[in-house]
Amino acid sequence: MKKEQTRLAFSSCVKNLATSKETEILVDNVNDMSAASEGCHLAAYNFDMYKSDRSKKPVMEFELMDKSSKTDWEDGFIMADCQNLARTLMEMPSNMLTPEKFVEEVVNVFEEFKNDPKVKLEIHIRDEDWLREQNMNALLAVAQGSVQKPRLLELHLSHPDADKSIQPLVFVGKGVTFDTGGISIKPSAKMGLMRGDMGGAACVAATALGVMRLNVPGRIICLMGLVENMPSGNACKPGDVVFSRSGLSIEIDNTDAEGRLVLADVLDYSQTFQPSAVLDAATLTGAMTVALGGAFTGAFCSTNKLFDMLRKSGAVTGDQVWRMPLATLYNDMVKDSLLADVTNSTKQKEAGSCTAAAFLSQFVKCDQWAHLDIASVMENTNHVKYMPNGMSGRPTRTLIQFCKQYFPEIK
Ligand SMILES: [Zn+2]
Repeated sequence: MKKEQTRLAFSSCVKNLATSKETEILVDNVNDMSAASEGCHLAAYNFDMYKSDRSKKPVMEFELMDKSSKTDWEDGFIMADCQNLARTLMEMPSNMLTPEKFVEEVVNVFEEFKNDPKVKLEIHIRDEDWLREQNMNALLAVAQGSVQKPRLLELHLSHPDADKSIQPLVFVGKGVTFDTGGISIKPSAKMGLMRGDMGGAACVAATALGVMRLNVPGRIICLMGLVENMPSGNACKPGDVVFSRSGLSIEIDNTDAEGRLVLADVLDYSQTFQPSAVLDAATLTGAMTVALGGAFTGAFCSTNKLFDMLRKSGAVTGDQVWRMPLATLYNDMVKDSLLADVTNSTKQKEAGSCTAAAFLSQFVKCDQWAHLDIASVMENTNHVKYMPNGMSGRPTRTLIQFCKQYFPEIK
């Protein structure tokens, strides 16, 4: 059986058993127990944190008939469990998951690995003063309309067997814990989904967890820019100009194009680690959903090599990427501003995902860069049959798989 069929088959069993109130499930052996385990654990996920009857619900426990496949089963469990962490963070409402609370939740998850000899883990929590010292004025402009203070969370992972000649792989995640659109306010229908606008940061944190739990030998740095985008007397306004960390001035033409402002400063900061590659993940544009629906994450890659690695990773996990273009025409559209060096919203409204990527490219110096626009896969609405509907946590498993392949292949 192919991997994706295996996930699907096992998830259907879990769904059927859920209604029969069976809690102890004996699992027979198939040739891909890792995929089987992913199917089971992704299907069994249920977000009921705030429901009063949650303790009454039975928890499924899986037991293997053939213990020789335990390692593969466990690997699949870790992949699914990390994606489930991203799903939980994305589902958590914005009053429960502010930037500060996001940091707290993630730090708690990583706490148990602090003294793990198999990995060197460093955590840095950067506050508003630090962000100001760093001149991260684009990120701060987004945050200034909210009473919730912004944060930058850094996770540095270094495996003792990591090849020191390979520079770290840096992940950047967009963490807008709620996006009202700011002064360019969004329509109220479905605005509640914007609690998931920190999906990039959630996937990046979940990827770091997977890398640690699966003992991937490499050096990885995860940078998560965390803000809330609100309209208020302090909020930034359309037409405002800010000087980003890189020195480029930005015209904020649309305060709802805030993700790229956050990423601009964090991507610029990522260069300080002299990375071998930079990957950012962001629920960046509604246009990506129009283009790809829930089938793929849109991947804008500076090199064929990087895209090829992402494509292969997606083929393994079933959570796939589709290549999108980086082009001079889009760069020109981004630079067409009367007030500043670049604008966060172009005059032409077509190709919204491509101009967003072009905007980000102005702040990237690393030759190997991939921007993953995950807006298309943020919410599962029957796209992935082996997961219940809701926030998806995609493409966490693809990013973990990417890390597994990256360090041997980049040499
Ligand atoms: Zn927005």
